[in-house]
Amino acid sequence: MSKVALVTGGSRGIGRAIAEHLGTRGYEVAVNFTANASAAAEVVSAIEGYGGRAIAVQADVGDAEAVASMMSTVTEELGPPSVLVNNAGITRDDLILRMGVDEWDEVIQTNLRSVYLCTKAALRGMLRARWGRIISIGSVSGISGNPGQANYAASKAGIIGFTKSIAKEVGSRGITANVVAPGFIETDMTAALGDDTAAAVTAQIAVGRLGRPEEVAFTVGYLASDEAAYITGQTIVVDGGLAL
Ligand code: NDP
Repeated sequence: MSKVALVTGGSRGIGRAIAEHLGTRGYEVAVNFTANASAAAEVVSAIEGYGGRAIAVQADVGDAEAVASMMSTVTEELGPPSVLVNNAGITRDDLILRMGVDEWDEVIQTNLRSVYLCTKAALRGMLRARWGRIISIGSVSGISGNPGQANYAASKAGIIGFTKSIAKEVGSRGITANVVAPGFIETDMTAALGDDTAAAVTAQIAVGRLGRPEEVAFTVGYLASDEAAYITGQTIVVDGGLAL
């Protein structure tokens, strides 16, 4: 089994924490990004700083050709990934009557089509190796819904159904597929919502504070391990009790 992990959207936020955590666990890490090359380079340097190995690889994960080319680069430079973390995601929030078709399509393409494209591309090597871990980052919005996020919640709920189907298709081949669904985690994505929203959400969180990207990364690290071989098709909520 190769110890190669591909983390989509690994340049910032939760993806960055996952890439670094897997780096400290002995994985060679491919850090995908779409626009922010300098942030991805920083993550590569951080992993190299711990004595690990990493590369940065640019691709828009909603684009089929870009994903195919990303997978070739990763396979040539590090080997076929045995762990795929589908983390890249965006929000384009709006109430449904104001939500344009572009806002709908962009979110579905980046958050859901990408999971289909990357999983399909990574599965070939995992099936040959008879070992693999597919971990996709969902959201509590995909479980409970959220006003202003019909597009986002649909994309994240879609990931859950997709994951259950893949788990059933490839479970007998040593490959698991799971979703990690965070609540409200401190990243650039949530910083854009402002302090008032953060305070209102914090009041709903049993643990009494926002989450840190590392707290999502630890769950991903566990699901990527041999110890988690008997967990598949599941959605693990990491939200400090927000959705209780
Ligand atoms: P950030 O906005 O902080 O980072 C987004 C990352 O995704 C960046 O690395 C960005 O790359 C990358 N990205 C965006 N679009 C694409 C694309 N088309 N192709 C490849 N990479 C892309 O997000 P978070 O860290 O907050 O979120 C990470 C994941 O966690 C998302 O799926 C999000 O939906 C989910 N999530 C986040 C929560 C939160 O509270 N923060 C809560 C629940 C779920 P670049 O740097 O190049 O722009």
